[in-house]
Amino acid sequence: MILAIDIGGSQFGMALVDGRGKVVKQVIRRATRFGHADEVVAGMVVEGRRLIEGARVKACGIGFGGPVDFEAQRIVNSTHVPGWDDLALPAVLEDALGIPTVMDNDANVGAFGEFTYGAGQGSRNLLYYTVSTGIGGGVVIEGAIYRGSDGFAGELGHVPILVDGPDCECGNRGCLEALCSGTAIGRRGSEAVQKHPRLGKRLRKMGVVTAKGVFDAARAGDRLALRVVDETCVYLGMGMAGAMNAFAPDIMVVGGGVSKAGRVLFDPLREQVKRFLMPVHRPHVKVVPARLKGRSVLMGAVALAREFITRV
Ligand SMILES: [Zn+2]
Repeated sequence: MILAIDIGGSQFGMALVDGRGKVVKQVIRRATRFGHADEVVAGMVVEGRRLIEGARVKACGIGFGGPVDFEAQRIVNSTHVPGWDDLALPAVLEDALGIPTVMDNDANVGAFGEFTYGAGQGSRNLLYYTVSTGIGGGVVIEGAIYRGSDGFAGELGHVPILVDGPDCECGNRGCLEALCSGTAIGRRGSEAVQKHPRLGKRLRKMGVVTAKGVFDAARAGDRLALRVVDETCVYLGMGMAGAMNAFAPDIMVVGGGVSKAGRVLFDPLREQVKRFLMPVHRPHVKVVPARLKGRSVLMGAVALAREFITRV
């Protein structure tokens, strides 16, 4: 058995997973009701003890929603609640629960989850995009998470796309994330409504335009929404084609809330990826939605923990 933990901005999920990758028990707790990371960790210890009671648990894996220093097994920082900065979370949980514990950032872990148990099963090289409020990225090369020389590789969402584009969370401008995250798609939807007052009736009716709203309206044939979706796919296609030219993966997996849009996103996206790819890669392009739905990170934490105990 493996204990898997997925720590996001607003909640954490914990699961006990058996040798065949089946979730035996699972809990999800809101993290936002806690004021400090210490309280979140204390909550995790209580739930963790409850989950592992009576089970033979070999290891624990964690996917953390923020930058992680993998070598040091420490969280770098987090904007969720105060108290995460520089925390050696695996050591804390190892002490409290008595099982070997390993952690990485949630995008790397999600990539490894899809690689091991999801859409990337059977592949060797995989690129993973999680498109929600931001865009996280993970790179799996020859079956292993690629972390780069400084440990922070795989930030596929922070590939620069547009000179003088919108401000990005990372401090730069015009990154893929600043143009194509769920937040950015909603913002571009609102801007489009203002710019074209005679188009986009469906979008206008929404008041606050969200990414989901844009895709729903596009599916219903709203011309302005379709324009926003097309533009999204051009930017996303540029970013993904650039990464594919660099890495030549077997497969590119797109997860996160925005990937739920389905064909209205994936059909034009595949076309745009092909458009920007070098011809030599075009026959191999495979852009698919994540298969584990909300569980990419949890299952990746299982895979990470399994790899960890075979390594030490
Ligand atoms: Zn950025």
